Amino acid sequence: MQSGCGRKLAFAEVRCGLLTAQCDSSLTLMALIFQVDDEGHARPKIRCDSCGGVIENHANGVALLGTPNPKPGTVIEPIFHCAGCEEEAKKTSAPRHSMSIDHFMLYVLNNIQLTPNALEEAGRGLKGLR
Ligand SMILES: [Zn+2]
Repeated sequence: MQSGCGRKLAFAEVRCGLLTAQCDSSLTLMALIFQVDDEGHARPKIRCDSCGGVIENHANGVALLGTPNPKPGTVIEPIFHCAGCEEEAKKTSAPRHSMSIDHFMLYVLNNIQLTPNALEEAGRGLKGLR
């Protein structure tokens, strides 16, 4: 009976870790965020999953795919790292598949049928917000 309880507890801890992804750290909840600026506008941004800093320029970060050989149908949640954190991570972790943020975003747009025309139209609508 005791071993059963122990196993149950361990399972609960694993579940917590998987479902909430570092539930004890407020820095690593979600990479895609809205940051409200001084004028109260909600600005969509990408946040570094390691340090929590906002990646202001696509060239200053990468999207990482954690699983090396995923099976078809596997869902991979991307991890975003700012350039500084990626430099640090490279020193300690095995080589991982990464994608520049411009490529990642382009793939996302393609995969949700957001064509260049649709994008241009959206861009015209956005001009009022800038
Ligand atoms: Zn960082």
